[in-house]
Amino acid sequence: MKFELIIIGAGVWGTSAALAAVRGGLTSVLLVEANAGVASESSAKAGGIVTDLVWHPEDMDWVQRSRQLYQEAYERTHDRSILRRYGMLTLADPYRRDLLHRRAKVLQDRGIVADLWEITKIYKEFPELDRLNPETVGLWTPGDFHVNPTAYAESVVDEARNRGLSVRLGTRVDRLDINSVSVSVQIGSESLHAERVLVTAGTWSAKLLGKSGFHLPMRPYRVQLSSLDFPQGYHLPMVWDLQTDVYLVPDGPRNLLAGDGTRLSEHDPDDYQTTGDEAFESHIAAQVTNLTSQADTAGLRTSWAGLAGSTPDRRPLVGQVAERLFVACGDQGFGVMRGPALGELGLKIALGEAKTPHLNPLRHRGGDFPIRPGFTLEEEL
Ligand SMILES: Cc1cc2nc3c(=O)[nH]c(=O)nc-3n(C[C@H](O)[C@H](O)[C@H](O)COP(=O)(O)OP(=O)(O)OC[C@H]3O[C@@H](n4cnc5c(N)ncnc54)[C@H](O)[C@@H]3O)c2cc1C
Repeated sequence: MKFELIIIGAGVWGTSAALAAVRGGLTSVLLVEANAGVASESSAKAGGIVTDLVWHPEDMDWVQRSRQLYQEAYERTHDRSILRRYGMLTLADPYRRDLLHRRAKVLQDRGIVADLWEITKIYKEFPELDRLNPETVGLWTPGDFHVNPTAYAESVVDEARNRGLSVRLGTRVDRLDINSVSVSVQIGSESLHAERVLVTAGTWSAKLLGKSGFHLPMRPYRVQLSSLDFPQGYHLPMVWDLQTDVYLVPDGPRNLLAGDGTRLSEHDPDDYQTTGDEAFESHIAAQVTNLTSQADTAGLRTSWAGLAGSTPDRRPLVGQVAERLFVACGDQGFGVMRGPALGELGLKIALGEAKTPHLNPLRHRGGDFPIRPGFTLEEEL
């Protein structure tokens, strides 16, 4: 049997591509996932922030489309864990006031509510942020929300299965072989054939394509998050502190997720430390204590690490790698908020329905490049 399409990797990107494929009328689509469940790697480890505060206008479009898809999954399933609208407060020192102003204007021009708050307003709305420097300014974006990528991906796969999607979990693809009429997907001694293949294997994508003879300019780097227990509870929105790059995400009445950007060194997706470092745990606890005295009595529940994929220009790699072979990856650490849209885009390109030469995965011919964070407000780093 030859599939019309095989999608490799069932994170937020791959599952969204799969649903778009069967909705678009393809009748033999296979989604292959190495793990026993969908969205169980980076997608499961994410903070789940979805915000319009991204530096590139195209990213804003993808966030907007992804929002629609998250919202749709939420309405279809009535699963309240898929989406929670907390709003986000972005904090900056006075030197970045202009940057916040500019970003607020960009959002407002797009019809998105974005209010600049002075410290008195911040204290009034969120008195628990009682340790801020009095010169701090804030940007309040009430439409920002938190998603549970695993709940979303499960609902998407359920919907896609009802429309004819085949799914193979616990199946790791070893290699891809391309010939003039099909791509064969090698799984141990088994070969599956497809008219086209879309690789959405997250930070494994470069490794998988490397084994198949294609070089993808993507370097995986490690991102950590901790879950803090606030025994007395707390009243906070999502918070992003630009001075320290610390972000907070509510996770139930007593648990708060806290992370602080990235460690900018390359890691092998099959061999990295998946628990948080002790140094990270104590650093992040101290940073949260600098924001709120509520954290004085908080304790660490757990911490973990996942990977993100950096590209030379901090833009995703979405498009054709070879005849019949396509990829969508290069998340730069903020691929939950854009993933549903980028999965869909990868699918459209694979079907010849969209062209985005500027995202061509082979556009970088150079060699090594520095790993840089993606989720920033600055355009140049
Ligand atoms: C700690 C942390 C916090 C984050 N916070 C946020 C946030 O708040 N907001 C945000 O937007 N983003 C965040 N991110 C980034 C976000 O998690 C990723 O960008 C996103 O999950 C990428 O989705 P994906 O589908 O591309 O990858 P993944 O979810 O990793 O999916 C790829 C899948 O491919 C499978 N796979 C790999 N190789 C093979 C193979 N050979 N055969 C079969 N299957 C294979 C894997 O098992 C995996 O399930 C965070 C990331 C981390 C690590």
